Amino acid sequence: MQERGMLIVLSGPSGVGKGTVRQAMLAGNYRDFKYSISMTTRQMRPGEQDGVDYYFRTKAQFEQEIAEGGMLEYARYVGNYYGTPLKYVNKMLDDGQDVLLEIEVKGAMQVREKCPDGVFIFLTPPDLIELKHRLTARGTDAPDVIERRIAQAADEIAMMENYDYAVVNDQVELAVRRIERIIEAEHLRVPRV
Ligand code: 5GP
Repeated sequence: MQERGMLIVLSGPSGVGKGTVRQAMLAGNYRDFKYSISMTTRQMRPGEQDGVDYYFRTKAQFEQEIAEGGMLEYARYVGNYYGTPLKYVNKMLDDGQDVLLEIEVKGAMQVREKCPDGVFIFLTPPDLIELKHRLTARGTDAPDVIERRIAQAADEIAMMENYDYAVVNDQVELAVRRIERIIEAEHLRVPRV
């Protein structure tokens, strides 16, 4: 029987660099894994593409997907829905592929409940002030949105203890290497029967 793939959940506060780390992981030549593209109701940003960065959907479409049981997890974040479509994740895991989710913390906790065998990695900023600078420097969000993101991040950092691993994102390449080592080690675990 085909061994089921491993579910890897990369989470942490917005602005910590999850997206950058995920992109570096996808661009690198590390072992095979599939990235689960999320669904969202937020506005598309310049340069983003539907079906590549996210599946961009209306609130009604998203809520229908929830009602039909199509989401592995979902959360409301700064006024929008974000979630992981269930079908693709299940298919890839059944095919023996590792699957990477890059999601915020409320969603990660829902996945923890449903998939306790997953590997849960918390990406942390070196500190919260640094996070504020990063969010401001990114310049894609209005000041009030930045303030709300920082308030939310303080709560999120307190949630670190719910994870298996904490990885500091001081440099992207270092963070990626740390995550790769975690995945490597998880694959070397002695199977429990
Ligand atoms: P952004 O709007 O900057 O692309 O993403 C905002 C936040 O939503 C980020 O913390 C990102 O990790 C999170 N996010 C992206 N996709 C999902 C998802 O499918 N589920 C959940 N719960 N959060 C997501």
